[in-house]
Amino acid sequence: AKENGRNTFQLFTSQMNDETNRIFTLEQRLRHALEQKHFVLYYQPLFDHGNDSVCGMEALVRWNDPEHGLIPPQEFIPVAEEIGLILPLGEWILREACRQSMAWQKQGLPALRISVNLSARQFRQKGLISMVQGILEETGMSANLLELEITESSLMHDADETLVKLRQLTEMGITLAIDDFGTGYSSLSYLKKFSVSRLKIDRDFVRDLCDDQDDAAIVSTIVAMASHLGLHTMAEGVETDAQLQALLDVGCRQFQGNLFSQPLPAAEVASLFDKPLNP
Ligand code: C2E
Ligand code: CA
Ligand code: CA
Ligand code: CA
Repeated sequence: AKENGRNTFQLFTSQMNDETNRIFTLEQRLRHALEQKHFVLYYQPLFDHGNDSVCGMEALVRWNDPEHGLIPPQEFIPVAEEIGLILPLGEWILREACRQSMAWQKQGLPALRISVNLSARQFRQKGLISMVQGILEETGMSANLLELEITESSLMHDADETLVKLRQLTEMGITLAIDDFGTGYSSLSYLKKFSVSRLKIDRDFVRDLCDDQDDAAIVSTIVAMASHLGLHTMAEGVETDAQLQALLDVGCRQFQGNLFSQPLPAAEVASLFDKPLNP
């Protein structure tokens, strides 16, 4: 039994070491990637049915590793969040998105709202407001063209501090969207207090919208209540005409998903617009 116990213990520690090593290596590689600027932003167009046009772009980060190619955010954002690297990475993402937006405007593209994801840790960081303010000044980006996407769970921490931060951001002219809406526990009246403009209905609810009556009821309720409160709703992950029709039927007017466009590299965004570009 003693022998067994020791073997079990050894097995356990060797697994732990593997996991520790894996994270350690990933951590080193992430730090290196940030120094070398091995990250790239893709942009997914956001559609508004009302104007039948692109109403914005969501910036989505990818790790462009020289050896492994493009690595999706789920594979490194959680670790970056855990080790705190999300703060410098998130700052780079915001600066890069604003810089790109200004570059598009100079090329003659219509001024589009850019949505940037803010992780929970970024939202809680002390210098958030001055960091955002600094990047807007440095890039010349208009606050009115910036939307920050914050997950429901980020708002749950400290209600007073959250309210102050959200108010400071909206007073600057920035709009706020609640990301992955429906997965947390916030009531809609609570959100009203938070001066949010838009709810993004999580892709999980959109996926089974046409087959699952519960999901259909949830989406329909979110859209109806949001509309009473004067909030826009945007559906994430719209892939089929049937999903689009079901969303239109319940009054949703803003969409994001592969049915419209996948996330695109910055260079391909210009081709979305008919308008001739300045030379
Ligand atoms: P999210 O904020 O919910 O972003 C939407 C995700 O859904 C994106 O995945 C997008 O490519 C994907 N998507 C959009 N339409 C469709 C569709 O029709 N079908 C399918 N299957 N997927 C669709 P992506 O780019 O892999 O990003 C995943 C998550 O990683 C994001 O979810 C967000 O939570 C996080 N993330 C991405 N970029 C950033 C960033 O710059 N900062 C932070 N903090 N998080 C980010
Ligand atoms: Ca998002
Ligand atoms: Ca989302
Ligand atoms: Ca989601």
